[in-house]
Amino acid sequence: MSETVSFGYTEVSPDEKTARVGEVFRSVASRYDLMNDAMSGGLHRLWKDRFVRLVKPRAGETILDVAGGTGDIAFRLAKSGAKVIVSDINPAMLEVGKERAAKKRIDGLDWSVQNAETLSFDAKSFDAYTIAFGIRNVTHRAQALAEAHRVLKRGGRFFCLEFSTTLWPGFKEAYDVYSHKLVPKLGKLLAGDEESYRYLIESIRRFPTMDAFKAEIAAAGFVQTRVEPMLGGLVAIHSGWKI
Ligand code: SAM
Repeated sequence: MSETVSFGYTEVSPDEKTARVGEVFRSVASRYDLMNDAMSGGLHRLWKDRFVRLVKPRAGETILDVAGGTGDIAFRLAKSGAKVIVSDINPAMLEVGKERAAKKRIDGLDWSVQNAETLSFDAKSFDAYTIAFGIRNVTHRAQALAEAHRVLKRGGRFFCLEFSTTLWPGFKEAYDVYSHKLVPKLGKLLAGDEESYRYLIESIRRFPTMDAFKAEIAAAGFVQTRVEPMLGGLVAIHSGWKI
């Protein structure tokens, strides 16, 4: 039987997933930042702040931000003086990011179109690898984790911020209703695109549990793997070290 992967709740071929995820982010690129604020009530800013605090970027380091989109993580990392490469498979998202960087007068970022599964960088190039709200969109997650491990230096650190499953009982049910019923409507209203936001919610549901994803990170060769849940695991920060 030929391989299938999940595109939200639908099973599709790997090529079709890559193409359809591409369409989603091409379609939402210009409204992406507005929608993040609207959907999370601004909370995504706090999650990203916490994420970058855990990464602890330092001047003199070289950091690869994968699936960097419109630059939210890279902008925060760059404040430390670290050299940051923002990479993403989708040129439309990076273009919005470049415009935002120019408006915010953030210099010194490198922008690079890259597929997380087949990075063009040499082995042992980076002190840290970050990926925020990106890994669930990748077609072959194990391949992306293997690439993360390859491009990190020994002693390099891996950090992933991603939606997961909240373990808080009442909150879980409320969030289910909110995300399945309201988010696609918000997408229609604010971004003129209900389907893309339906995919984004469905892709969250198909993502492995915090412990299962932690095991995948360990299987890629990382050690001292950790997970920090936020809002009971609605969002989680996974990390690990390459030794
Ligand atoms: N990191 C940004 C943030 O936190 O705001 C953007 C996250 S956005 C939800 C997901 C990003 O993953 C999109 O920009 C999309 O183009 C990118 N993406 C999807 N598949 C990818 C892949 N295989 N390799 C690299 N980036 C990918």
